[in-house]
Amino acid sequence: MMHDWLPFRDAFLQEMLSGEAPSQDKSCSSCQEAKTTTMYRCSDCFHSGLVCLECCLKNHIQHPFHCIQEWTGQYFAPTTLETLGFILHLGHGGSSCSDVGENNGEGMRDSITTLVVMDIGQIYTHKVSWCKCSDAPTKPIQLLQTGLYPGSVDSPRSAFTFRLMDYYHVDSTECNTTPQSFCTKLRRLTNRYHPHTVPVSVILLEYLIISDWKTGPLQRIDQSITTMGQYPGPHAVWIWT
Ligand SMILES: [Zn+2]
Ligand SMILES: [Zn+2]
Ligand SMILES: [Zn+2]
Repeated sequence: MMHDWLPFRDAFLQEMLSGEAPSQDKSCSSCQEAKTTTMYRCSDCFHSGLVCLECCLKNHIQHPFHCIQEWTGQYFAPTTLETLGFILHLGHGGSSCSDVGENNGEGMRDSITTLVVMDIGQIYTHKVSWCKCSDAPTKPIQLLQTGLYPGSVDSPRSAFTFRLMDYYHVDSTECNTTPQSFCTKLRRLTNRYHPHTVPVSVILLEYLIISDWKTGPLQRIDQSITTMGQYPGPHAVWIWT
C-alpha cells in the first residue's frame, strides 16, 4: 500500500515545503496592490494567499475565529487578529455601532471589552465592541444573536460557539471526554508549548468531599469565577459552562 506513495514522495514534499515561503510576487492577493509592509496569511481560509494588513482585517469580519500567520522575512510566525487590531463589532452585522457619534468617543471606549471565545480547535481572545444603541439588547443577547453562547448572564467575558458545544456533546458521548479534559485539549491546541498561559474563564463550583463521597452527595461550599490556570486543590470539581 505505502509502496504506491513512494514515487511521489519528493514531489509531495516539495509542494508542501514550497508553501512555507512566499512567492517572489509581493503584492496582496486580495487588493492586488504591491506592499512593502508585513504580509499575512490565514491557515483557515481556503485559497488564502499573502494579504496586506488592511485586507486581512477586512476579510475576517465574517470569520473572526481564524488563525493568522505573519511573514517575518524568514518564516511564518503565528499571530492573532486581536494583535493586529481587529475589533469584533456586535449588533450591526460586523459594522461598528451607529451610536458612536452620539457617545462622542467616550461611550465607544467604554463599550470595548475583552472576550474569550472558545471554538473548535482553538481559544480566541477578541476586543469586542458592544452595541450601545438605545434599544440595544443585553450583552448576553448580543452574543446569542451572533451565534455565541455567553459564559455568564450579567457581563460575559467568555463565550462558546454553538458548533463547539455540538462537538463537545459528540465528544463526551462517543469518547467519554470530561469537560476538564476537553478544555485542557483546547488550551493545548491554542498554545502547544505553553497551554497554561491560555486564559479561560470558567465557573468553579467547589465541593467539600465528605468521607463517604462515593455513595453520598457532594456538599457545595463555595462558588467563584476563576481561570483554568488557577488550580483549585483536591476538593474542587470543575464545572465548565
Ligand atoms: Zn490588500
Ligand atoms: Zn481566514
Ligand atoms: Zn448599536
